Amino acid sequence: MYNSNQPRVPKGSPDGGQWIGGHTSRSAFDEMSANDKMRFIKSGGEVLEDSTDPRLELSKMVNALPVVINPNLGNEATTISGVRVEIGPKFQAYPKQIQLEILTHEAAHFHELDMWYLKNKADWDLAARTKAGHLNGQTTPGEIIVEAYSVAWHDPGFLRANAPGLLRDLRDGIIAVGLPMPPLLRST
Ligand SMILES: [Zn+2]
Repeated sequence: MYNSNQPRVPKGSPDGGQWIGGHTSRSAFDEMSANDKMRFIKSGGEVLEDSTDPRLELSKMVNALPVVINPNLGNEATTISGVRVEIGPKFQAYPKQIQLEILTHEAAHFHELDMWYLKNKADWDLAARTKAGHLNGQTTPGEIIVEAYSVAWHDPGFLRANAPGLLRDLRDGIIAVGLPMPPLLRST
């Protein structure tokens, strides 16, 4: 079991209270059932209808996560791998896109991409392979590799520019644990 307690520093800034996506008003959201609310949160506030959209695979995987709301959680989210993902009040204060980025990060913990990395690659100075010495504030190998998974989906140009040395290991790990492959890595 893995408990991720390192705080995550998203690229965007928290946008207090505004977490209703594009065409969904606050009142429409309030009328949704609890299940629909959770589905809406997990989709990043976007309904994907194009079956050729590669994000559909990501969306399905994220929707399958057992996510529970923990009102006492200090971090925005935490994962007990293979068991559940917990989201807290900080998570709910983020804009939709950042929520999806966080859930993508937590999904990689859930499916033990970090464990795979530490077991099979064990590069304890993975941060040295990033240009800034960290990736979105993540500095430890397990956190860097799961954050790289989220960034590969949501900001591939940033990952390619700032951590090109991670791409091959990341791709190997994604194949090994069976996560959806981000388009960036499909031809690497
Ligand atoms: Zn984490």
